[in-house]
Amino acid sequence: MDFISQLWEIDSPESARDYLTNLAGEPIRVQNFINNEFQDHSKANGWIDSFDPRSGKPLAQVPRSTTSEVDLAVDAASQAFQSWSKISRQERSNILLRIASVICRKKEVFATWESIDQGKPLARARVEIERAISNFRYFATYILHDEGTVRFIDGQPSTLTYEHRSPVGVFGLISPWNMPLYLLTWKIAPCIAFGCTGVAKPSEVTSISAFSLRQADLPPGVMNIIFGDGPGAGSALVQCPRVRGISFTGGTSTGIQIRRETVTDIGKHVSLELGGKNPTLIFDDVDLDQAVPVAASAAFENSGQICLCGSRIYVQSSIMNRFLSVFVEYVKKNYQLGQTIGPVVSREHYSKVRSYLDQAQEEGASFFTGVVPEAEPAHGYWIAPTVLGNIPRDSRVMREEIFGPVVSICSFETEDEAIQLANDNPNGLSSVLLTQDVSRMRRVGERIDAGLVWVNCWLVRELSTAFGGMKSSGVGREGGTHSRDVFTNLRTIHVR
Ligand code: NDP
Repeated sequence: MDFISQLWEIDSPESARDYLTNLAGEPIRVQNFINNEFQDHSKANGWIDSFDPRSGKPLAQVPRSTTSEVDLAVDAASQAFQSWSKISRQERSNILLRIASVICRKKEVFATWESIDQGKPLARARVEIERAISNFRYFATYILHDEGTVRFIDGQPSTLTYEHRSPVGVFGLISPWNMPLYLLTWKIAPCIAFGCTGVAKPSEVTSISAFSLRQADLPPGVMNIIFGDGPGAGSALVQCPRVRGISFTGGTSTGIQIRRETVTDIGKHVSLELGGKNPTLIFDDVDLDQAVPVAASAAFENSGQICLCGSRIYVQSSIMNRFLSVFVEYVKKNYQLGQTIGPVVSREHYSKVRSYLDQAQEEGASFFTGVVPEAEPAHGYWIAPTVLGNIPRDSRVMREEIFGPVVSICSFETEDEAIQLANDNPNGLSSVLLTQDVSRMRRVGERIDAGLVWVNCWLVRELSTAFGGMKSSGVGREGGTHSRDVFTNLRTIHVR
């Protein structure tokens, strides 16, 4: 049996571990999927190794796709666009619902491999697979209920004007490693729902769930998946003139690079969902029993590897001591390595997170819990949840996205100071506001530089609402009508 058929039958971490043991060190070889066929990569550019974050041992090999392999995928998507863009919305909707039900039937398979490949606990992976299913279901039904504007021109009752939308064309869909299937399907579902076709490129670090994604009768070429490194395959996809749109989720520096590479292709639709260094503001009127779990999950869910994680906590000074002791105890009890919190994704990322902890130590920070981990991890990429205090406001630790299980705590005195501290950062993706004062929810919430503001909650999502960041955290919004704007062209037609 080939790898894909084998992976498709494994639906628990125990059976996955047995399977990997039987492979005896042979890595899972992932293949590009073009025109509904897995591709032979034997004569191409070599392979990229990816490792099991829990053990540091080799797990998979990903083809280092060349520009000509990217071109082949774009050919397939261009060809498929001719017919896919013309079929009825009902037919597209049915196909999306079928994909949702295939993932739903195999959700334990997807959750298992997502957990193994990315290092996240199985419970977290299950949540993300449910969200991947919702992505298809939401856009399957959205397109059936979509509305447009039609009116007679003012003063000219014999002239009708209406807005007409058509699919943009072939999209490049580029996603990161932190929530692999959820973020990839957040792009694939609207792309094909609105009549576009695509070439998806997941991160080389986490490829298995995309490899396992079967298209459930999707016509050949409508969605092609290529693997490879960002500067190679990703950049070739971005720069391909036949690719008429890019939906990208990843780091801000990659987003800047993509903007550079598309600047002269002025008509290319480019949507960039980028990094965050998100503040959590805690006012002295909160009930700590409710506020602490929200602040802790915002900081440590998925080992802090969610773009929306609240990695800067600002606490009103009058409750600082009380908050700190309850928070640290809560974190120690509820975020235990290997149980409720996994390793970080890769050796490279481990070193990056570690370098910030090293710097914090050099700057004299207080480690309320957590330590600087070993420079050379022996068995997997484990970093304990770390709560830091006494960090200079201009320190890199306070200003840059660490994207690991690390949170910094500072105090503030007044509402104005809280807002000033929250906004004193180049990023503007999300924020959490914890208070029981209803007028403050608006007063503060409406002044924070963040595309998403959560009041007394975190990570609550409604797929019809806008998702995206301000400042360095991105350009454009996705979700509901915003996704429609990304994947369609709008023209206004006047008919006398
Ligand atoms: P990267 O920006 O490194 O990579 C994201 C994707 O882009 C990967 O598939 C990567 O490929 C690819 N890529 C890298 N370089 C290029 C390039 N020059 N041209 C085209 N594609 C390229 O981010 P990470 O994977 O490290 O993900 C973490 C980042 O993603 C964090 O900053 C996080 O905040 C952000 N993020 C933002 C979200 C949002 O919605 N705003 C949600 C989730 C994460 P490869 O990995 O194979 O090199």
